[in-house]
Amino acid sequence: MVDTVPAVDTKKIHRLFEAQRANQYKVAESSAGDRIRKLQKLGDAVMKYRPEIREALWQDYRRPAAEADLGEIYPVTSKIKHAKSHLRRWMAPQRVATPLAFVGSSSWVQYEPKGVCLVISPWNYPIQLALGPLISAVAAGNTVIIKPSESTPHSAAVLRKIVEEVFDENEVAVVEGAVDTATALLELPFNHIFFTGAPEVGKIVMAAAAKNLASVTLELGGKSPTIVDETADLGIASSRIAWAKFSNNGQICIAPDYVLVHESKMEAFIDAVKSRIREFYGEKAAESASYMRIINARHFQRVKSYLEDSINAGATVVYGGRSDPGDNFMEPTVVTGMPMDSPLMQQEIFGPVLPVVPYRDLQEAIDLIRSKEKPLGLYIYSKSTRNIERILRSTRAGGTCINHNAVHFFNPNLPFGGSNNSGIGKSHGKFGFVAFSNARAVYKQILPTALDKLTPPYNNLKMKLIDLTIKWF
Ligand code: NAD
Repeated sequence: MVDTVPAVDTKKIHRLFEAQRANQYKVAESSAGDRIRKLQKLGDAVMKYRPEIREALWQDYRRPAAEADLGEIYPVTSKIKHAKSHLRRWMAPQRVATPLAFVGSSSWVQYEPKGVCLVISPWNYPIQLALGPLISAVAAGNTVIIKPSESTPHSAAVLRKIVEEVFDENEVAVVEGAVDTATALLELPFNHIFFTGAPEVGKIVMAAAAKNLASVTLELGGKSPTIVDETADLGIASSRIAWAKFSNNGQICIAPDYVLVHESKMEAFIDAVKSRIREFYGEKAAESASYMRIINARHFQRVKSYLEDSINAGATVVYGGRSDPGDNFMEPTVVTGMPMDSPLMQQEIFGPVLPVVPYRDLQEAIDLIRSKEKPLGLYIYSKSTRNIERILRSTRAGGTCINHNAVHFFNPNLPFGGSNNSGIGKSHGKFGFVAFSNARAVYKQILPTALDKLTPPYNNLKMKLIDLTIKWF
């Protein structure tokens, strides 16, 4: 199996980039039917390699088969299905209205591919966060180089196998490697860069893109809050929050990072979450085949230090807390009483620790959320329309689920992405197609136009016509 990360191979990177640059117009000229066939082939390959994908994810960090299927296979196959049934419409020229002053013309928007694109993907969903952007890029008629994360080498190897089976390398290629490989790729004048990862790295990617004026889509992260108000159904809230927090061991960009609970429900909510964790993973999560591990020792130490530093600052562990560094294992952990300046309330946790914070007045919860960077997700458990509308109106976030966590990701009709620190640009469905396209404006003159009458030399009659145009059209 795969144990080492390939060293940067600058020659190969340049060769692939030039090959794709030379081939880009041929790919761009493909019809909707051609692109649909490519997507179908990709979907078939993903299904063929489903057992290998599951095995690779188990090798990388003990991902259970059910979570491999739900978290990697389904998002890819459903995105392909959606793109296949909508692509003809997305590609068709879209007529727009013409102002009266330009009567005798017609105008439309025609989406054209950006050209040669780079996709840099993370380790937490190593298959679907590489193939999801690829589906949009292929639908839009681009060529693509994918740089998967070095932290999930087994998954990256299967990804490469799938891509090599479906595409020629002058159309789509996977380049495995670590930061030095990403850095070498970022020096090239790609037309679009689609990056998924941490906000700090997003800034590096955007700075590199600026050198070539490449457009970017940045899918980043941050602390996504969940509010449980005094009207919420605690059975539902505890179950869905525990599922979204502890699946994938909390390593989900849209996981509920921390929960704000109305003080009258605090005790009952914590009891309910504890019961859900026991139901999901038993008394000993270490022995549960449904419970994953933290990706590697570096991230294990990171999460552990957030927990320990927060405990030293006054936090109390109310469930779990034990860990095994040899296995990158940490129990599903619930914590209360964290000072607001402790790491658990300052850093994106990205691990199996759930801080729960009581609030007295909804404004307190809103103020806390507003004091932080705009989150990627913000979740509300409530039966009060008034509270839901107030939270939606007075906070900002990439996306929101009401009475659920994270599942907005799965609706391809919704845009997915953050805002500022949690991301720039949107993906999924038509939004992903648009991200990888240039919306080309096309204006066609059909009949004679009044503009022809307004050419120099200017005289009083022409000035009057201009006045009339400004006044009436
Ligand atoms: P990361 O930013 O460390 O790595 C992501 C990719 O960037 C990897 O391929 C890595 O090799 C590359 N990279 C890392 N440092 C780089 C550098 N200095 N220059 C160029 N490339 C570099 O992120 P990660 O640890 O793989 O994933 C965790 C982060 O990703 C979290 O912040 C999470 O919230 C975020 N995330 C966001 C989404 C989303 O859709 N918005 C999805 C998953 C993860």
